[in-house]
Amino acid sequence: MPFFASPPNHALEKRTEFPHVCVHELNPNDPVVPVMIDDFAKPLPRRKSVGVMVGNVMVGGDAPVVVQSMTNTDTADADATVAQVSALARAGSEIVRITVDRPEAAAQVPRIRERLDRLGVDVPLVGDFHYIGHKLLADYPDCASALAKYRINPGNVGFKAKRDTQFSQIIEIALKYDKPVRIGVNWGSLDQELLTKLMDENAESASPVSAAAVMREAIIQSGILSAERAEALGMGRDRIILSAKVSQVQDLIAVYADLARRCDYALHLGLTEAGMGSKGIVSSAASMGILLQQGIGDTIRVSLTPEPGGDRTREVQVAQELLQVMGFRAFVPVVAACPGCGRTTSTVFQELASDIEDHIRVSMPKWREDYPGVESLNVAVMGCIVNGPGESKHADIGISLPGTGETPSAPVFVDGEKVTTLRGPGIAGEFKKMVLDYIEKRYGTGSKSSSDAA
Ligand code: SF4
Repeated sequence: MPFFASPPNHALEKRTEFPHVCVHELNPNDPVVPVMIDDFAKPLPRRKSVGVMVGNVMVGGDAPVVVQSMTNTDTADADATVAQVSALARAGSEIVRITVDRPEAAAQVPRIRERLDRLGVDVPLVGDFHYIGHKLLADYPDCASALAKYRINPGNVGFKAKRDTQFSQIIEIALKYDKPVRIGVNWGSLDQELLTKLMDENAESASPVSAAAVMREAIIQSGILSAERAEALGMGRDRIILSAKVSQVQDLIAVYADLARRCDYALHLGLTEAGMGSKGIVSSAASMGILLQQGIGDTIRVSLTPEPGGDRTREVQVAQELLQVMGFRAFVPVVAACPGCGRTTSTVFQELASDIEDHIRVSMPKWREDYPGVESLNVAVMGCIVNGPGESKHADIGISLPGTGETPSAPVFVDGEKVTTLRGPGIAGEFKKMVLDYIEKRYGTGSKSSSDAA
């Protein structure tokens, strides 16, 4: 089998069992036969992976896709790192990675862990090691013990003869402290010896593939060979997570689709160097969304470059929103708002939608405790009568605000029924209060759903 050939992906093959006609085969003269197929409205079955416990969080197996993030503080600055880890955990990050790049950072890790524990922040910490991880873990046993997982980059764990020795040393320490590892390949620091070997093989092949295909193969092999080496050293498959990050959307999809069918290790998805602002969000959502739809991915990180002074928790919010809009998990109530158009020149509905969304996000840490299940709430804030009543009826609670020239009244719908019509300058405040009352009634202590859940 040539190095780039892979075993079949049964999940993808299964899709072809559905009635399927390629659009290119359609004849415009054929009669159109309408068919309604449920199967296209949901993701493919989740790829089966071996579950890995990272601290108290399961990644892979039957666990839901886990959201994780990484700090950008200097780990040697314990105050800043504790503050940022706490903020990321409060925002919903279920695992947080911190850089451990030098002795001063390694020395602070156990203190950071202790302080987080005192604050009641039990999020597992992952140590990100490059070049001297073997030495830092050996020299700082309290650091090795405090971390819930070690991230190893096989491309820079060491060079030439030292590479295997230093990789083995990290695995042996992980075994000693009973910690899982993530073998995290990154195309920016790819094992150059492996890449050169595959390039040479490809050049001599009777049917050579493109340099990009060889690069992708090197990324995949680097991860799988390293994982197999860890297994040979005694590490169980239930202690190994793999990632293979690249910075281009199509490459990421190709790499993970191939990786997913060649192993059953739990997979950490992430587009590296995704970029700033909307570009980073769109690139991450496009690539990871397609993979998640194919059932691939056990934990995700959205690597956004924050604006100077920007909020690091944005990457957690985006990861949660990606999983929520695709229907995999629910984290926060959804506020559906119309985009607005020439039918409403008022900014009331935009302000109300934004006000409610902000209020929900700020309140969620407490609401999660006080109102179990509130994350599945749907609120609609619509700008005029065209789609307003229809969309509002589909939400748990919705309001249709008056567009330009419409009667200045705003019908409110609760559980599909119109319950009142708000009028006058206090519409926004009154609707906000109705949303809070609805949450209290439906999810608060003594509500029907609470007693059902008890
Ligand atoms: S609901 Fe009304 S205001 Fe909103 S986008 Fe549709 S037509 Fe425009």
